Amino acid sequence: RVKERGRGAYGFYQPQMNAGLLSHMQLEHAMRQALPHGRMAVHYQPLVCIDTGCIVGAEALLRWNDPEFGAVSPTVFIPLAEESGYIVTLGAWVLEQSVREAVQWMRAGRPVRLSVNVSALEFRQPDFVERLMRLLEAEGLPPAWLELEITETILLQDAQEMAQRLGALAALGVGLVLDDFGTGYSSLAYLKKLPIHKLKIDQSFVRGLPDDEGDRAIVSAIVSMGQALGIDVIAEGVETEAQRAALIGMHCQQYQGYLCAPALEAGAFRAFLAQRQVKALPLLPR
Ligand code: C2E
Ligand code: MG
Ligand code: MG
Ligand code: MG
Repeated sequence: RVKERGRGAYGFYQPQMNAGLLSHMQLEHAMRQALPHGRMAVHYQPLVCIDTGCIVGAEALLRWNDPEFGAVSPTVFIPLAEESGYIVTLGAWVLEQSVREAVQWMRAGRPVRLSVNVSALEFRQPDFVERLMRLLEAEGLPPAWLELEITETILLQDAQEMAQRLGALAALGVGLVLDDFGTGYSSLAYLKKLPIHKLKIDQSFVRGLPDDEGDRAIVSAIVSMGQALGIDVIAEGVETEAQRAALIGMHCQQYQGYLCAPALEAGAFRAFLAQRQVKALPLLPR
């Protein structure tokens, strides 16, 4: 339909506009339609105690299945949502859905902690903490059963104020996880200053285990540092028994990865939980 306006018309289709850019706009349009049309869902990937196999938590991961574009990867649409600000709407929905789901795990006698990714733009909303607390209270999930996965990009602006906000969340009992640790600009000084409860080792470092010497050195250093600082460490993207064995050798406590399970649809995750041992881990005091 945009093409009908033809060359030189002042609609936003321009002949020199490449296909990539056009599909970028179509994708964003489709993304905004997805939620109201029920095309998005939150899936849950188990977080596992590495030596006992007990389930200690689950990460909420957003899924989008589009009639035109098929299953769109979050690595594609999350950055798109972040650019356009739509992530604030998406993130609020993920929190609401997943907090409700976690309450069901509790009711079923399978208490595991819920872990939710929070983008910088969401976290920067002035009423983020207040809205989160209202949600937890309304749904009846104690704050200690929730952890937020953040990255250090949260601190790129207004670091002082954002650090205060993290302090407020920790004081309320919410767990704080530094995601994709080791990539980006992670500064070790943050670990001393901020109330971080857990480090999630990025899967790019796990991939080369057990053979790659550089990956071994990095993973082992992160685990030792976590231990020295009293911060839990979890490895992401564990796919093989050999990777798990290497991590056990380095005293890493938890893992997440296809070796145990991928992110499962809510009902499938409930069924999974019903068959597995769960372990309610207390948050380390910070
Ligand atoms: P992340 O938070 O680092 O999530 C872990 C990613 O690793 C997930 O990709 C998960 O499916 C994948 N993964 C887990 N185990 C394995 C494994 O053994 N092998 C491999 N190859 N991959 C594994 P996913 O679901 O595609 O999500 C990608 C990223 O999108 C997430 O990375 C996160 O940054 C973002 N994301 C996903 N859902 C949300 C959300 O609800 N809110 C926000 N703000 N970001 C989200
Ligand atoms: Mg994450
Ligand atoms: Mg991660
Ligand atoms: Mg990652």
